[in-house]
Amino acid sequence: MALVRGRAGVRRQQQQRERAARAWETHPVTPGPDTNAVRDLVGWFRREGADLPWRRTRDRWAVLVSEVMLQATPVSRVIPYYNQWMRRWPVPADLAAATVGDALAAWQGLGYPRRARHLHAIATIVTASGWPSSDRYEDLPGVGAYTADALRCFADGQQVLPGDVNVRRVVARRFPGGWPGAPRGRAWDAGQAMMDLGREYCRARAPRCDGGCPVRAGCPAADAGVVDEVTPRTRRQARYEGSLRQRRGFLLRALAEDGRVPVASDPEAAEGLVAEGLADRRGSLLVSAGSAR
Ligand code: SF4
Repeated sequence: MALVRGRAGVRRQQQQRERAARAWETHPVTPGPDTNAVRDLVGWFRREGADLPWRRTRDRWAVLVSEVMLQATPVSRVIPYYNQWMRRWPVPADLAAATVGDALAAWQGLGYPRRARHLHAIATIVTASGWPSSDRYEDLPGVGAYTADALRCFADGQQVLPGDVNVRRVVARRFPGGWPGAPRGRAWDAGQAMMDLGREYCRARAPRCDGGCPVRAGCPAADAGVVDEVTPRTRRQARYEGSLRQRRGFLLRALAEDGRVPVASDPEAAEGLVAEGLADRRGSLLVSAGSAR
């Protein structure tokens, strides 16, 4: 698979424009109340931050696996999957030697299985060609702006704040003037601290402003009583029960257990899985992706 996809130049220009537009990530570090708040936040994180398996490494593959798994999935659910995955495929070459079906079977129950296929594709590319330079992480399959920035910050130690939905919410409430930057050499701690703050205190619903938030002092949103008003709106997730997504999940589970399932059991869901490379078709059967090769 080619590392650089078609129209890569145009895409890269667009990515550069998007990065420049995320001004809060590149805001110069200037002393002031906000930089003091970040320093307090980092201090709090170093004392009380959660001990998570992916925080014990700066290995790019491990960081990528954890970040992909954490997309739209709670930390507690990810931990056993992450541990199992990294035991089985500790380096990209191990996963590249497995089939997509193996990756999908290991992903079973985590949701959004396309992520497993992307990890398999990335493992194949990296094994064949090595990692791209950090300004080209977005060229990897399924790697968007957030995941690329997470690699830059959490694996490469660059002064970038990865802005997932939680971090964007915290920035909007606590740093409405823009992310002031992390203390020198503390970009990793600051990024992880923002994740914990968003999960434990600055939650989307019922934020714990007066329940121990480590950066409550001077918080503009809490002081003005406008926490809800300044919170960025997020799209509601479509209902899962009875959805096509759920039916595709049933088929993938059956494939993980038996390796094959009749297409006729749910032609629409089966067709979608084949179109996305999440399963292969052999005659009237749906089979695990990659098992026919
Ligand atoms: S005081 Fe409230 S709004 Fe401000 S950072 Fe803490 S939890 Fe978020």
